[in-house]
Amino acid sequence: MKLLLHICCAPCAIMCVKTLREEGIEPVGYWDNPNIHPYTEYRTRRQTLEEYAKSISLPLIIGGKYGLRTFLDEVNGDYTGRCLTCYRLRFESAAAYAAENGFTHFSSTLFVSPYQNHELMKQAAEEAAAKYGVTFLHRDFRPYFREGQDEARALGLYMQKYCGCIFSEEERYQKRKKKKEAQV
Ligand code: SF4
Repeated sequence: MKLLLHICCAPCAIMCVKTLREEGIEPVGYWDNPNIHPYTEYRTRRQTLEEYAKSISLPLIIGGKYGLRTFLDEVNGDYTGRCLTCYRLRFESAAAYAAENGFTHFSSTLFVSPYQNHELMKQAAEEAAAKYGVTFLHRDFRPYFREGQDEARALGLYMQKYCGCIFSEEERYQKRKKKKEAQV
C-alpha cells in the first residue's frame, strides 16, 4: 500500500501517523486546507506541521495555497451545509494528487476529530476515491484524540482555537457569548 495522508494540522497528525506506523504503513503527508482562515492562522498551522513532520521524518507534500476565495466560492452561500463542501474540497484534492502520483490509497487526519461529522466525511472520502480511481483507507482514529492532544501540548505545538473557516471562528465567540448570557 502506498498511502497519501491528508493532514489538517500537526496535533491531529500525531496519533494518526503513530497508529498507522504501528500497522506497518508508512504514510506520506499531504497539506491542502483552503478552509483555514485568516492567512496568519493558515500560515501558523502549516508551519507547525512542517516542523513537526521534519521532527518525525514524515515526508510532507504542500499541495495547496491559502484559499479564502476558493473556499467561499465553493460554499456559495450555503453556510449551514458548508462542512460537506469543505470535506469534498480537501478529499478531492488528496484523491486527485494520490491518483496522479502513484499512491494506491489516501486517508485523512480529520478522522481523529470527535468534532467532525465522521459519517459525512466517510461518504465524501469514498466519493472522492471513486472519482479519481484510488482507495480510501478508513480508520476511526477518534479513540486516540485526547492522547494526541496531550502529546501536542507536551511538545509545545501550536493548538488552534477553532475548526478553521471564518464561520467556525465566529461560532467560537458566539458560543462564549451565549454561555455568558446564560450565566446572568
Ligand atoms: S467548521 Fe470546520 S469542517 Fe466545517 S466548513 Fe468550517 S473548517 Fe470546514
